Amino acid sequence: MPLLPIAGHQPVRARLLDAVNAGRLPQVLLLSGPPGVGRQRLALWLAQAVLCRTPESRPCGRCRDCRLVLDLAHSDLHWFVPIARPKATDPARQVDEAAEAIAEIMAERRAQPLYAPPDGMASHSIATVRLLQRRASLTAVEGGARIFILGDAERLVAQESNQEAANALLKLLEEPPPGTVFILTAVDSRRLLPTMRSRAVAIRLGRLSDAEVRDFLGANLSPPLDAPALEARVALAGGAIGAAVAAGDDAGKAQQAASQWLEAILEGRGSGLERAMRQPAWSARGEFTALLDALSDTLGEAVRGAMGETVRRPVPTALLRYRSPARLLDALGRIATTREAAHGNVNPQILLAVLGEDLAEVL
Ligand SMILES: [Zn+2]
Repeated sequence: MPLLPIAGHQPVRARLLDAVNAGRLPQVLLLSGPPGVGRQRLALWLAQAVLCRTPESRPCGRCRDCRLVLDLAHSDLHWFVPIARPKATDPARQVDEAAEAIAEIMAERRAQPLYAPPDGMASHSIATVRLLQRRASLTAVEGGARIFILGDAERLVAQESNQEAANALLKLLEEPPPGTVFILTAVDSRRLLPTMRSRAVAIRLGRLSDAEVRDFLGANLSPPLDAPALEARVALAGGAIGAAVAAGDDAGKAQQAASQWLEAILEGRGSGLERAMRQPAWSARGEFTALLDALSDTLGEAVRGAMGETVRRPVPTALLRYRSPARLLDALGRIATTREAAHGNVNPQILLAVLGEDLAEVL
């Protein structure tokens, strides 16, 4: 299946198209914006615009290059997404492993263009950067430009051991080969290395309107939702189609589990351990970090409520009683600490029990 149509971001698209048509598109771009708002989809749209062979109406969507981009099959489009750390010890094998993992994800996205966000522990390791370097050193297959998209680029610097990877990438961004465009995407550009950020022209993407999200979901969700379910999903999205899509799968389940668990704490139901044991067992660390993400999101919304701003997704009502955000921010800090601990070899159920006791004290 080809990529689904791009939604929203018209002013940014118009600016980028002007730059492409005038032949002055920067060689290194950084697209930042809230999760699920379509940063990588916009990067793919831009790739299509650059590679399109119909200059008067790019991206035309009909020429061979446009169709290959939409099928994620263009030989000069290289899309790098976070993956699990390669297991091989030999560096060359690690690169092969990274290439296979990315190819597998691309195959999944061709089969299911509405995809969930990457696992919380997935990252860009040195193997991915070596793969990128290797591909950047080759010439264009189709004779035109070459596009490299590095999605969730902040995942490159998550660990110190990745410093080598960051440096190798920096060199490439410093002097991009002619005819090559690098598009980095990040939720928060401040989480990238300053040296990396300084080499890129930054573009910030805003949230979509509810109408844009509603139109997209109405046209593309399968099976379609009935009207009340569609409205609930639009409300959950908070202007991010990715969030609306994720709400239908594991992340949605994590969001639900987070709300129930917070409600149990706020009502003082059971001990931390009892509450933690009632949660399903986490088969992967990524699922546990998804729960932590959902807890952070929910408390973040409660902070908005405490500051008198509109809450964009359902939050347990007991969390909306706070007049000042101080205690909620304290709770967010405890979740951040738990996330750090989750990187170590600690049982998630025990971490959650401790976190539950902490939050019961704070909230
Ligand atoms: Zn075209």
